This record gives sequence, C-alpha cells and structure tokens, in this order.
Amino acid sequence: MTTMSLTIADLQLQGFVGFYVTCANPMCLYSTPIRFDSLGLDPSTPYSAIGKMRRLECAACGSTDVSTMPERRDYNASENGNFASIGRANEPQPAEAQS
Ligand SMILES: [Zn+2]
Repeated sequence: MTTMSLTIADLQLQGFVGFYVTCANPMCLYSTPIRFDSLGLDPSTPYSAIGKMRRLECAACGSTDVSTMPERRDYNASENGNFASIGRANEPQPAEAQS
C-alpha cells in the first residue's frame, strides 16, 4: 500500500503551476486558479497539506467547503487579485536567537 504524498516541488517538476480551488456549493461551483507561487509555502510542503496550511475560501461565496485540482496549464490569473482569499494558518515562526 503506497501513500501518495506529492509535494509542491514534485508537482512543479511535473509541470503543474498551481491548482484550482473549486467551490463545493452546488449553487456556486466557482472555480479559482491559484499559483503555488502565491501561497508562499515551502516547496517541500505536501500538496495534501495546502488546505491545512492555508485557509482556502471560495472567492464568490466565501465557503471554505472547496476542493482542489492541480492545474498543469500555465495561466496568468493570480496577479489581478481575483482569486480565492488565502489566510495564513498558524505557522511556527522561526525561533529568534535569544541568548
Ligand atoms: Zn462558492
């Protein structure tokens, strides 16, 4: 039994530039492309962990009930602000040198 744990770097190596966040609300189904670049996550972050590291919301209705789908084609959508809002989850901050 194998566990798929592709990282962002793995996906980028395969030509994926980001992913689509698709709203699971059947009345909405808004789909938004997000580039890995715009997440600000380390490339070693597992793809499956993105939803835990970043709060992914539907840009149209604000629902957090969304699904993600890796997107291979290049696109230029994420520069105009018209993408799902990304909130920072609690992340361990680098320990400051205090001696
Ligand atoms: Zn929605």
